Amino acid sequence: MAPALCVNCKTERALIKRPKNHAKLCKVCFITIFEDEVHHTITSSQLFQPGEKVAIGASGGKDSTVLASVLKTLNERHEYGLDLVLLSIDEGIKGYRDDSLETVKRNAVQYDMPLTVVGYDELYGWTMDQVVETIGKKGNCTYCGVFRRQALDRGAKMLGIKHVVTGHNADDVAETVLMNLLRGDLARLSRSTSIVTGDDRSEVKRSKPLKYSYEKEIVLYAHHKKLDYFSTECIYSPEAFRGSARSLIKQLERVRPTAILDIVRSGEDMARLVPGESPSSCACKGNKTSPMVPAEDDIGGCGSQKGRTSGNEMAAMDKQLRENEAHEGLEVDVAMVMSESKNNGAKKHKELPIRSGNGTSKSAPRQVRGNCSRCGYMSSQDICQACILLEGLNKNRAQIQI
Ligand SMILES: [Zn+2]
Ligand SMILES: [Zn+2]
Repeated sequence: MAPALCVNCKTERALIKRPKNHAKLCKVCFITIFEDEVHHTITSSQLFQPGEKVAIGASGGKDSTVLASVLKTLNERHEYGLDLVLLSIDEGIKGYRDDSLETVKRNAVQYDMPLTVVGYDELYGWTMDQVVETIGKKGNCTYCGVFRRQALDRGAKMLGIKHVVTGHNADDVAETVLMNLLRGDLARLSRSTSIVTGDDRSEVKRSKPLKYSYEKEIVLYAHHKKLDYFSTECIYSPEAFRGSARSLIKQLERVRPTAILDIVRSGEDMARLVPGESPSSCACKGNKTSPMVPAEDDIGGCGSQKGRTSGNEMAAMDKQLRENEAHEGLEVDVAMVMSESKNNGAKKHKELPIRSGNGTSKSAPRQVRGNCSRCGYMSSQDICQACILLEGLNKNRAQIQI
């Protein structure tokens, strides 16, 4: 059978079956199209100002590494005029974060960007290893997520930076939309679809330029651009509800590749129906530009994006890509790779009870801006989530010492 030609340039051999729409593309066209789509997201939502200093929340994982690489490329190609830096959070997880931080350090050299690392221990007096030692593995992802959100903001403030970009992708957004739909929490659903989150008080805005990029395409991009990233999963278990939403999305994607983007778009459409919420979406859908929404409603979970993939699918996909390449330039059928990895992947589905009190409120009332009376961090409550979690941890520590 004659090799298929790229449907875009019609000259090169098609090597990639695009996960988003199954279009067969050559490597160069895939990379260009991926970058063009991110550029479109950035320009249509007027994400950046010329001369803006932007911190990239870098974990060393594929999402934030691709984000750093793409932003560097686009910043040069389209003259955004951005001053890009890397900001990493050290959660204090031995054998995971210390290794991935080494990757970020190499990225800083590769992309010629300054790097700042902020540790949970210095900010909170607790490493995640110590948190898990105290509370067990159950629910630790919640602690990590709450701490990380503040840590990124505080790190940015230390650097005098008002804009942090994160590597959240379309799969992450779809997952959050689905979770909020299943909880019946339309207000939160609406906020989670926004490309920009942040708070005028905190003065640090948060955005996700890869909001419309598929996780699988991020893996393909990283592979074909030969990016240096860390692909070990977080050793601590993800929140069960999030894990289930993620599995469901992956299953839907298998039967209908556009499902992920459809869920994101549906989330944006539903957000438009929520009174008082003004969501953002790509401007070509006829929407206004992004308003700021509270950072506390940002997408939660593991910042490395690794801990949530069921059965280590993405790592399996990456491995398969390498093997394929080692043989010959075979056409990469991602759907096949994924179903294989599903069968081989050890699925560890421990059902954990859903934590109440963290984002599971039946209806999120319109939030009142304020600051935490303990740490001063912006919070809609008298005491912020991080301080509440820390109080519990510190009580535990005190009891152990007695
Ligand atoms: Zn081509
Ligand atoms: Zn606080």
